[in-house]
Amino acid sequence: HAPPAYVGRFAPSPTGPLHFGSLIAAAGSFLEARGHGGRWLLRIEDVDAPRCVPGAAAAILRTLERFGFEWDGEVLWQSHRHAAYDAALARLDALGALFPCACSRRELADSALARDGSRVYPGTCRNGLAAGRSARAWRVRVRGAVDFVDAVQGPQHEDLEGEVGDFIVRRADGLYAYQLAVVVDDADSGVTDVVRGADLLDSSARQCYLQDLLGLPRPRYAHLPVATNAAGEKLSKQTLATAVDTLPAAAALVAALRFLGQNPPTALAHATLDEVWQWARAHWTLAAVPRVRQQPARDILPDP
Ligand code: GLU
Repeated sequence: HAPPAYVGRFAPSPTGPLHFGSLIAAAGSFLEARGHGGRWLLRIEDVDAPRCVPGAAAAILRTLERFGFEWDGEVLWQSHRHAAYDAALARLDALGALFPCACSRRELADSALARDGSRVYPGTCRNGLAAGRSARAWRVRVRGAVDFVDAVQGPQHEDLEGEVGDFIVRRADGLYAYQLAVVVDDADSGVTDVVRGADLLDSSARQCYLQDLLGLPRPRYAHLPVATNAAGEKLSKQTLATAVDTLPAAAALVAALRFLGQNPPTALAHATLDEVWQWARAHWTLAAVPRVRQQPARDILPDP
């Protein structure tokens, strides 16, 4: 069997209810997957347990259903995936790419101050822990730069070694880092295409680096503009959390489409949810998405 040509996904973190920014990522990744005749998977990113809000995952699933999203297969929960993350860490270790780090946040902040504010990991523990120091976090050794082409944002280049340095894959509190979990999950689910908010564009280089190390195929990336308020701040779960749930679904979806540069006819504002989806599936084009990292959502959202 040939592998499926297109597998997309939506991967919300259950740190609050679905907000307008997440609706944009959900709609964009869904329409792009369906436009390719592909599958669209749903993953709940509850790897960072302390940040998860009880009931938020269930609320997100309910909201997605209310908006008429249909995902393929079972929902994947990161909290059930510890064995897979451990296996990836073991593989990095076997490659000699993993090392324990004893540095506290405080020590790293002090060292950053001493180096003109550079937040790049100074390499303190990369050649072994100093006597009497014990492992807190685990880091992956970083060499060189990463290049990839983003389908919306264009060619990307990050000097990972010079700008990030050895990054954490297992945190001091024992939790697996988001970067590791995403890479392992996307590969295990056979994800070919990652469509998500451009707030994660800077994570992509680290994810590509891990994919290369682990011998996993790199997915294609498309980073959608992030919605900001009038002050240019990213819409947070706080600012618009309740909005998406209290908005009429059809009108909110039209607003998301408009935000993504699609050109829904004005009459669609009064259409049913089914009609909006039909229009969206017939007309969706990634090429129309504005090639910016962020843009204001003002004047786009309907009144609750
Ligand atoms: N869980 C992340 C978020 O909600 C998205 C991760 C991803 O799409 O790779 O921001």
